[in-house]
Amino acid sequence: MTEAPTISVVVPCHDEEDNITLLIERLTASVEPLDPGFEVILVDDGSHDGTLGVMKREHARDPRIKFVALSRNFGHEAASTAGLSHARGAAVVLIDADLQDPPEVIPELVSKWREGYDLVFATRGTRAGEGRLKRLSSALFYRLMRWLVHFDFPADTGDFRLMSRSVVDAFLQMPERNRFVRGMVAWTGFRSTAVEYSRDARHAGETKYHLGKLILLTLDAITGFSAFPLRLVSMMGFAVTLFSAGATIWVAYARLFLDLPIPGYAFLVTGMFFLGGVQILMLGAIGEYVGRIYTETQRRPLFLVRELGGVEPSDKRSD
Ligand code: UDP
Ligand code: MG
Repeated sequence: MTEAPTISVVVPCHDEEDNITLLIERLTASVEPLDPGFEVILVDDGSHDGTLGVMKREHARDPRIKFVALSRNFGHEAASTAGLSHARGAAVVLIDADLQDPPEVIPELVSKWREGYDLVFATRGTRAGEGRLKRLSSALFYRLMRWLVHFDFPADTGDFRLMSRSVVDAFLQMPERNRFVRGMVAWTGFRSTAVEYSRDARHAGETKYHLGKLILLTLDAITGFSAFPLRLVSMMGFAVTLFSAGATIWVAYARLFLDLPIPGYAFLVTGMFFLGGVQILMLGAIGEYVGRIYTETQRRPLFLVRELGGVEPSDKRSD
């Protein structure tokens, strides 16, 4: 085994054949001066295009460029975990393949790490080439998360960040299956700071995160880090009980003492529908958590490796 590099860069890639070559070029230019023995771990997350071929070509050209090819598409979060578990650097940078996160920011991240921070987030200042809906939905997402979780959840950060060895090791110890990388990394609570940069438009290809996926991610993030939905349901149940008790007393009082013409079925019907709806809501929230228990108890590996190029098989698993 060769000596461990100081800096590892992990790149999850799904159908990114047109981005990898330029990404490697820019990564090398910004990381090589910091650590000539750096490594790049490209993770092929079940791409359908020539991504793996490009990775192999880059590996043949420069052995510091390594790859981990997963057997199928496991999703961004699992692909990032696969890359992290194979990285050996003292500092590990996680970056997207599509050049939306400029590799030129890495030296700044590294200098913060050298100052003693374990976690350096790259915070997005401006965003080029992203639609209004996407920007609005991300903004909403971060506000919501900050409000719901009780540890410091950094706003406006993507997955572009530097993690020290301690953070990476802590992250890899987390056994959960429903993984929300940003939240989990923040959860470790190591000393963190942020560096601001402007997010570029995608270099080539299309985004794989559409609104639907963002909503699913939000659901995962909320149920993974907060029991708020359950509490909300209990609060609603409490409010409804209080309201219907009050209404019953009022109806009885009005009938007996005020002589108002109140039909007997009115409250019966609305009350029935109302309570029925609340029960369904409760079942939905419980189902959300039961679903999580189900996937957690399955204990399936998070990813399966098909082929390795230049990296040692990882003995670190996250379960
Ligand atoms: N990605 C992945 N697996 C997937 C989807 C995406 O590894 O199933 C990678 C993708 O190649 C990119 C990063 O995750 O490097 C972020 O994806 P994308 O650019 O589509 O997301 P966005 O920047 O729009 O949030
Ligand atoms: Mg992108």
